[in-house]
Amino acid sequence: MTAFQQQNGALHCEGVSLETIAREHGTPTYVYSRSAIETAFLAYRSALNQRAHLICYAVKANSNLAVLNVLAQLGAGFDVVSVGELERVIAAGGPSEKIVFSGIGKTRDEMQRALKAGIKCFNIESEAELLALAEVADSMGKVAPVSIRVNPDVDAGTHPYISTGLRENKFGVDVDSARRLYRIAKDANGLDPVGVDCHIGSQIMDIAPFAASLDCLLALIDDLGTEGIFLQHLDIGGGLGVHYDEVAPSIDSYVSAVSERLADRELELILEPGRSIVALAGALLTAVLYLKPTEARHFAVVDAAMNDLLRPALYSAWQDIQVVTPHDGEIQSWDIVGPICETGDFLGKGRELILAQGDLLAVMGAGAYGFAMASNYNSRPRAAEILVHGDSSHLIGQRESLSDLWQREVIPPEPQT
Ligand SMILES: *Cc1c(COP(=O)(O)O)cnc(C)c1O
Repeated sequence: MTAFQQQNGALHCEGVSLETIAREHGTPTYVYSRSAIETAFLAYRSALNQRAHLICYAVKANSNLAVLNVLAQLGAGFDVVSVGELERVIAAGGPSEKIVFSGIGKTRDEMQRALKAGIKCFNIESEAELLALAEVADSMGKVAPVSIRVNPDVDAGTHPYISTGLRENKFGVDVDSARRLYRIAKDANGLDPVGVDCHIGSQIMDIAPFAASLDCLLALIDDLGTEGIFLQHLDIGGGLGVHYDEVAPSIDSYVSAVSERLADRELELILEPGRSIVALAGALLTAVLYLKPTEARHFAVVDAAMNDLLRPALYSAWQDIQVVTPHDGEIQSWDIVGPICETGDFLGKGRELILAQGDLLAVMGAGAYGFAMASNYNSRPRAAEILVHGDSSHLIGQRESLSDLWQREVIPPEPQT
């Protein structure tokens, strides 16, 4: 099932026409399919049903409250990387005891809040962070459950900006350091080593790097066992790729490969999928403002820009672009560009499309790292967000107003002379 399909000459999300959404809510607008989110989550769950597991959706991929709520209702856990994400999960009805807290720079305030909430686990990325957490927990009379994030030094074969499991990346610690940190955690009052964690990157299109990291983590678990440190869970992180322009491994084949390697060990398996749950469930709707054919290139200037969808500019990412209501005309090669004053402001280049001024376009695969990375650059209000469920649609994120743009800003008084 794909959530977005042509029906009666117009692209629909489930049973709702994208034209209708654009008419009612304007553009640019993000549209998400509730069923597609649910289907992806349930694919993880059914592939894992034979073993103890927790699917901790990585909130940073799409942190809209309604999206989090859909997943909370299905029993998801959550992977957060800031206190902001922690509070979002709680506001969306997610249970604290299913939250894991990742990230290399947790502040003491963030640690305190997470301890108060009673989260499942802190994924710790350095000795200094581990010692800080021990102090914070101890001062609160609490014991912090911890995993050490291991950097297994495997090449995930993905874009350098989203590769995180190589020695030269800032994430995690090498296996030897991890062993040392577990000994510290075992002896510290405020710490309880409960698991081991890794996350090697994002948009990974090959299962082999996951298998290699898993083997590295399993060897470490065995090793620690001989020292009397017994871990209850293994967190393999997120990172499974999705089909933007090339076919990705299925959720099922990925989970099976991971599960197989765990064999009959009594470890709870934690996964932190983000992109593979929400990416294909979303599209960014945008309208063609002007066609600007030039001798060098043909530009279609649209009303969405890099502030709305950063991936093409940041990672040279390719996302499919479709005309919502296809019509007759001449196919030409178009660069789909936004109004922002940067040459890097494009959504797609060299797309073979039949375009007319006023056409609606849908940038596909925009459910992950789309709105979540949006900014107000060029003083552009952030887009509206819509959640579709069957034949109904709901506004789940209001378009920012112009006055929202400067609401938090202050002009200081003139100095008194
Ligand atoms: C970003 C991130 C994820 C999610 O990665 P996806 O590629 O979206 O699945 C999971 N865990 C951690 C620690 C992350 O930083």
